[in-house]
Amino acid sequence: MSDDKKNTWHGIPREDVPWIPTVDAEGCIGCQLCYVTCGRGVYEMHDGVAVAAAPMECAVGCSTCANICPTAAISFPTLDAVWKLERERQIFRTVKKEALRKHEREDAKKARETAQKAVEHVPTRAKVELAGEFGDKRFLVRLEELIEKKPFDIVKLRLEVPTLKGARQKAPSFMSFEVTSEQQEPIAPFLEDVKNLVHDAGLVLVAATPVA
Ligand code: SF4
Ligand code: SF4
Repeated sequence: MSDDKKNTWHGIPREDVPWIPTVDAEGCIGCQLCYVTCGRGVYEMHDGVAVAAAPMECAVGCSTCANICPTAAISFPTLDAVWKLERERQIFRTVKKEALRKHEREDAKKARETAQKAVEHVPTRAKVELAGEFGDKRFLVRLEELIEKKPFDIVKLRLEVPTLKGARQKAPSFMSFEVTSEQQEPIAPFLEDVKNLVHDAGLVLVAATPVA
């Protein structure tokens, strides 16, 4: 929670800080611009006139509502009183600590974002292409055994045989599929297992490419 939210301003009780808006009820035309603009909920509208109902919620140094009021009906004290208070209460020691905490938060946020991006760029899917004679090698059965009870699956499986007669005569065929992690884990370690299986089955690995 920031100092402002705890109703202090850099360690100074908010009520000691002379920065509150004053509305000249005579000059207010009830346009409600200040009411909808102020993000601190300082204003209420009473009988068509703006009232600074929660003045201590006003952000010290902010004068947005006064700047945009079409009739210049809102005024603030001069900044001299705030500057004087800054010096007298020596707020800069507190500000220094607050800035340090803010830097730490920002650095941690950047580190989190960097780590998140790194994780997002780790491939969790890979395309495998292989060639060879698949007939009596039980390759698909062994592939199924490999993924069994593991958080991986095979998708987009395609087997291309040159001709039906050619397949019967054990002519080389082409197979492709994608290996995907069901839990968005990096695919690289499991891809090595698939490559070993291809090798053990006496097939030719044409490509094993991570898919972005
Ligand atoms: S912006 Fe000015 S004129 Fe409009 S409601 Fe607020 S005080 Fe009144
Ligand atoms: S100066 Fe800013 S924070 Fe204060 S009342 Fe106006 S708009 Fe709200």
